[in-house]
Amino acid sequence: MLHNCLVELNGNIRVHCRIRPLLPFDKEFDDPASQDSSVPAGVVHAVDDETVLVKCDRPAHPLINKTYNFERVYGPAESQQVVFGDVCPLLTSLLDGYNVCILAYGQTGCGKSYTMLGPRSKEARVPPWGPHRDLGILPRAARELFRLISENPSKSLKVDVSIVEVYNNEILDLLAKERRTAVSGPKHDVRTSKAAKREVSPPTRQPVHSAEDFIALAAGSLPLRARLATQVHACSSRSHLIITATLTAASPCGSPADQQSPGPPLEGRPAWGRASPGSPGAQRPAEQVHAKLQLVDLAGSECVGVSGVTGSALRETLFINRSLAALADVLGALSERRGHIPYRNSQLTHFLQDVLGGDAKLLVILCVSPCRTHVAETLRCLGFGAQVR
Ligand code: ADP
Repeated sequence: MLHNCLVELNGNIRVHCRIRPLLPFDKEFDDPASQDSSVPAGVVHAVDDETVLVKCDRPAHPLINKTYNFERVYGPAESQQVVFGDVCPLLTSLLDGYNVCILAYGQTGCGKSYTMLGPRSKEARVPPWGPHRDLGILPRAARELFRLISENPSKSLKVDVSIVEVYNNEILDLLAKERRTAVSGPKHDVRTSKAAKREVSPPTRQPVHSAEDFIALAAGSLPLRARLATQVHACSSRSHLIITATLTAASPCGSPADQQSPGPPLEGRPAWGRASPGSPGAQRPAEQVHAKLQLVDLAGSECVGVSGVTGSALRETLFINRSLAALADVLGALSERRGHIPYRNSQLTHFLQDVLGGDAKLLVILCVSPCRTHVAETLRCLGFGAQVR
């Protein structure tokens, strides 16, 4: 009962948790217990669709027995299709004029990029992200978005895409023509004018006319993303990747966001929050039906001691940790409905301001490892999710 009340109150923020399977690069993969199908592998389990259990009771390891509840928990066997099934209604909301943000959070190597995009390209046999069953949220969302647009020709929507990374608290444009390397491109500082209006020198917005255009654009820009090998994983993302699809009406069509029916609730689950009269989303001018979809693959959330980096990489890690702390503060303030939301404490939160708050719908997907060796980071990640609900 209490759980349902909380969900109603924080209807614009949902938190899902995905436990990835044990994989050959995990130290515990060869553990006899993990080979025995009668024993659940790892120490993190999906008890049911909404409950995750972290249970660690072997000698020489601290005894842990903790459960967390989220709007949805995916066990290691859950497919990309099932995950996208829960995301899909958000695209209907997007067409109805709601801003939507889907954010993957977790330690490096826990499946953020796999969930948001698909398997890494070196693993994928078919470009850009492997066979259909492995496709992550981005390519599926691109296809669903263009399917919905073609089904609603009266809305005359066009789509522009921008792709940026937030690296060392700087916003770098991955689509800028003059960009050569991950860190030498033009910077898009978020500034605040005297009138306290947010001014952003906008990143390049490239029109896309089909899902395949959208997917190819994203796939082409990803090699520019700042990455580094750490002790946690051979290819750690050192930046936050933000892919934005902006929908604008190609011509005035007089269908403001507040006149349209909000999308259907996720089946069997509490509805997302609705725009209240006078909320920011309800004020959009009639001639500019305008909604944004932001897909965010955050940098690894592991703490410095875990990733074992030094020098400039340590500086990067500190920036990552600081921006993730700022994100936690913003999401915590939103879920508690505080008057002041500290968006300006980092470039990441400032850049995401439109989609974190107001009537925007936010889905946070916590990605966790099932391994005993990662249990401290897993608890930290689940704690982040519990804090923002
Ligand atoms: P992150 O982006 O969090 O650093 P990745 O998405 O790169 O992590 O995942 C690390 C590795 O685990 C990759 O090889 C990826 O293909 C694999 N992986 C992650 N989640 C799953 C999953 N649910 N099923 C199968 N493989 C997965």
